[in-house]
Amino acid sequence: MNDQRTVRDVIEFSGVGLHTGSDARVRLRPGVAGSGLRFRLLERNITFPAHAEYVVETRRATVLGSAGATVSTVEHLMSALLGMGVDNALIEIEGPEVPVMDGSAAAFAEAIAKTGLIGQHAPARTFTLEHPVVFRDGEALLAVVPADSFRVRFTVDYAPPVGAQFIDAPIAPDYFIREIAPARTFGYLHEVEALRSAGLARGGSLDNALVFAPDGPLTPLRWPSEVVRHKVLDLVGDFALLGARPCCEVVSVKSGHRLHAQAVQALRRLHATQHKALHGA
Ligand SMILES: [Zn+2]
Repeated sequence: MNDQRTVRDVIEFSGVGLHTGSDARVRLRPGVAGSGLRFRLLERNITFPAHAEYVVETRRATVLGSAGATVSTVEHLMSALLGMGVDNALIEIEGPEVPVMDGSAAAFAEAIAKTGLIGQHAPARTFTLEHPVVFRDGEALLAVVPADSFRVRFTVDYAPPVGAQFIDAPIAPDYFIREIAPARTFGYLHEVEALRSAGLARGGSLDNALVFAPDGPLTPLRWPSEVVRHKVLDLVGDFALLGARPCCEVVSVKSGHRLHAQAVQALRRLHATQHKALHGA
């Protein structure tokens, strides 16, 4: 039942990159059993595993890289891959970042669902831990607790008009595609203006982000809790960098990409140590 899975066929996405505004193209190719999720940066012909050790930057998006070549804004695509249950795939990238699509993971998740997955007759790799582990960064807190499946409970508390929001999200494909994948990237109007004048968010528009003015969102919300749902989407994408299916509950208060990357790097080290202790390797 818990065999590894890959995509049934090649899936291609193209569009604008949120930060650079340049054209970006992604191709998902089926991956052989045991290969995991891997990136190939076509312009430099560099291939590396989608693991937390390859995170090079987390300020505005999760950026992965190797040997000086980088790919930005991987978290929504990674979220769709883990959320939809893809264990193995080769992710070919043309351009400096993954296309932003509508600011959510909906297009990625729907294309994966439409193409379908195939089982690979090899047991899925899972990430388990023996004891709860807690990570902190300023006001942000992240507790990772052993469990049979992946579940995220997230609390945010942003400046008005967003405010405090909470969600308890059991991460499985049916739930993910319906309740999490369509939640969009968000920001405040004053931040968007500041980013633009700093030459950032060049590809940003009301078509690919949820923007809040002081009195409310500039476009209709998909849910009243769309912001915290997007935070879950981002967390799932960052936890995809564990390189295995998470069997844990994650309780987050106000965490972001930086704390997620630190946590996933530490959890990968912990897992390697536990594995060695168990098998005497
Ligand atoms: Zn995001």
